[in-house]
Amino acid sequence: AHLDRIAAVDGRVHAFLHVDRETTLAQARAIDERRAAGEELGPLAGVPIAHKDVFTTRDMPTTAGSKILEGWRPPYDATVTARLREAGLVILGKTNMDEFAMGSSTENSAYGVTRNPWDLERIPGGSSGGSSAAVAAYEAPLSTGTDTGGSIRQPAAVTGIVGTKPTYGGSSRYGVIAFASSLDTPGPFARNVLDAALLHEAFSGHDRMDSTSIDRPVPPVVEAARRADVNGLRVGVVKEFAGDGYQPGVTDRFTETVELLESLGAKVVEVSCPNFSYALPAYYLIAPSECSSNLARFDAMRYGLRVGDDGTRSAEEVMALTRAEGFGPEVKRRIMLGTYALSSGYYDAYYGKAQQVRTLIKRDFEAAFEQVDVLISPTTPTTAFPLGERADDPMAMYLADLCTIPSNLAGNAAVSVPCGLADGLPVGLQIMAPALGDDRVYRVGAAVER
Ligand code: GLN
Repeated sequence: AHLDRIAAVDGRVHAFLHVDRETTLAQARAIDERRAAGEELGPLAGVPIAHKDVFTTRDMPTTAGSKILEGWRPPYDATVTARLREAGLVILGKTNMDEFAMGSSTENSAYGVTRNPWDLERIPGGSSGGSSAAVAAYEAPLSTGTDTGGSIRQPAAVTGIVGTKPTYGGSSRYGVIAFASSLDTPGPFARNVLDAALLHEAFSGHDRMDSTSIDRPVPPVVEAARRADVNGLRVGVVKEFAGDGYQPGVTDRFTETVELLESLGAKVVEVSCPNFSYALPAYYLIAPSECSSNLARFDAMRYGLRVGDDGTRSAEEVMALTRAEGFGPEVKRRIMLGTYALSSGYYDAYYGKAQQVRTLIKRDFEAAFEQVDVLISPTTPTTAFPLGERADDPMAMYLADLCTIPSNLAGNAAVSVPCGLADGLPVGLQIMAPALGDDRVYRVGAAVER
């Protein structure tokens, strides 16, 4: 049924980069056989899923939305892919994304834009916009994404679904094509909080293939989603996430959610996190710095595209030609910014300073979580904006992640859940918890999603 739905609507939505009916049906049959043979399968066995094209898949191509990886067939599965296969989920295909996960609209994909199912002239969010659109358009019941600065929560918010950024190190980065390694976090998309928790639980947990993976039990997210009660819980409203730049309808839905929480017995207080105002500039130094280092591996020798290798050119010339043709403008911008920020003479002033700001933001969270159990804010300042509106204005595009970036810098857990519509478009509520407090965001999310 989902393959038929994809065939019917994906020509308009373009959530998928790769769909292969035969491979998917063969996987589904194999699961029936495992079940018939008496294998004890998990609660999601047989459920179809779409993977962001940043997770390696041994039976499907993986491009990270980039021309430089066109046609690449990974020889191995990412840990997230492998664990979900083992749990019996069936892969429908690979979803579109901003190139190397850099962006907030999926317009930076080398393979064309994805459209928001609520309004085909608007963005589905990014960078995991294919995954959010696929779930919102009922092409898939579940999907995966990665969140480096908001790339799961922001697309979830603007397409009216649930998206979680787990605690950093709570989900494995092994086999996830790297953007900014100290921030990249795989996570789930679903149409409700309990489904997201089931998916979260199915792929999370320690992985010895990822050196930053946390060797601790997965927080009880499914139990928390089932509990869905906030009576007596202390909820902090981040004072700094309000005011100019917030669409009035977004603020209204947020205020209503605060009232709902109070009516359910939560104690809501205002909390100040003064250094959050510096999160965006710190992120846009740290993330490009890490990307400039990570993307050095695309050297025209090891993977995918190779341009100008006609026997007359040096390796350096082939490398330069390949990178010039294989990378899009946003990726080049980030590599240049990052290389500059890391260069001797500027390192202390830019990268070093940004890392200090990162510590201050972490401390703001620590101070806040001494007073409250969770923090809340709108997920994004505005609803889905029109395609093309911010495509030529990187600064305007970066503002989409104003509220989501602090949790990435601190490595904390956060979720976006639907909290109503503004001018006919979905609004997201963000719930933030400390590292390893993932269960709290599900507990509160399940109580207020609507
Ligand atoms: N939009 C942010 C960026 O462009 C975040 C992306 C992400 O989380 N992968 O870097």
